[in-house]
Amino acid sequence: ATPAATMVGTAIGAQHGVLFEGGDILERVRDVDAVVFDKTGTLTEGEMELTDVVALDPAAPDGGVQRGGHETASGFDEDDVLAMAASAEQESEHPLAEAIVEGARERGLTLDSPEAFENVPGKGVRATIDRGEVFVGSPRLLDANGIDPTPADSDRERLESEGKTAMLVGLRPRDADGEIDERAGRVVGVVADADTIKPSASDAVADLRDRDLDVWLITGDNERTARAVARAVGIDPDNVMAEVLPEDKADAVDEIQSDGREAMMVGDGVNDAPALATAAVGCAIGSGTDVAIEAADVTLMRDDPADVLKAIRVSEATLQKIK
Ligand code: ADP
Ligand code: MG
Repeated sequence: ATPAATMVGTAIGAQHGVLFEGGDILERVRDVDAVVFDKTGTLTEGEMELTDVVALDPAAPDGGVQRGGHETASGFDEDDVLAMAASAEQESEHPLAEAIVEGARERGLTLDSPEAFENVPGKGVRATIDRGEVFVGSPRLLDANGIDPTPADSDRERLESEGKTAMLVGLRPRDADGEIDERAGRVVGVVADADTIKPSASDAVADLRDRDLDVWLITGDNERTARAVARAVGIDPDNVMAEVLPEDKADAVDEIQSDGREAMMVGDGVNDAPALATAAVGCAIGSGTDVAIEAADVTLMRDDPADVLKAIRVSEATLQKIK
């Protein structure tokens, strides 16, 4: 674009809450063939709420099975499961974590401050609390730590097909000496958070598809939840890439761009930054993280997925008028 076209386009974009950065960005926006949406915080509000707590190991009657330690002589009820999960998640800034902590507070549960905490990106968290070592996250997180996630399968699948994000709660309890018993790890419950799809998301997807743009959904969340959201907003199930780890999001965008096609990636999270940089056009949601905004070529100040089309329209209009 000429400097004049760039100035005009940038100014018109800004009036619509669409911030273009850099000189050749208008052409690149005009030329995209595909739009790739991150799910959480982009197509959805990213404001999670705790919806379900399942205890897989409910309190046994007196004389219930000993599981190797005083803390586990009788099983855990829902409040125990939630208190453990929330105690572990207190240190995390993930929206999933904040909803769990908030849900526990609403129920008046007392939380324990972890003595150790680790964030496992794209999988969950692990923390050491009074009760033992707690894991909250995906089946892969538990698997990776030698805890069998399968006893939670039916509850997890039920919650996921409702479009919720289900997280398993695993525990390695302390033994009588207070030592954490590595081999006694088991899944003790499931917690689920639900998010709200942005009101304009379906129309935004329909309008882009009407213009023959290929629309994709990419997420670290599980396949079942991702498909439930894709169905709700009108994205083809074949265009859903789920369970993508943060470090693999950029490769997934590369794959979509493989046959010389150009993609606009729309995202909000720290996780999305490499994918935003890899895409022909990186587009950040204005309320997203600074890291995402810095990696992006375009920022949508109104956090509205429908503004993707506005960005495309502005670039087309300015490049047509001033050639
Ligand atoms: P997204 O791509 O939707 O922003 P993430 O990559 O942040 O998702 O997370 C992917 C998955 O990892 C989540 O759906 C969840 O199962 C698990 N996970 C990530 N962070 C946490 C956490 N703090 N607590 C529990 N589970 C988590
Ligand atoms: Mg996100």
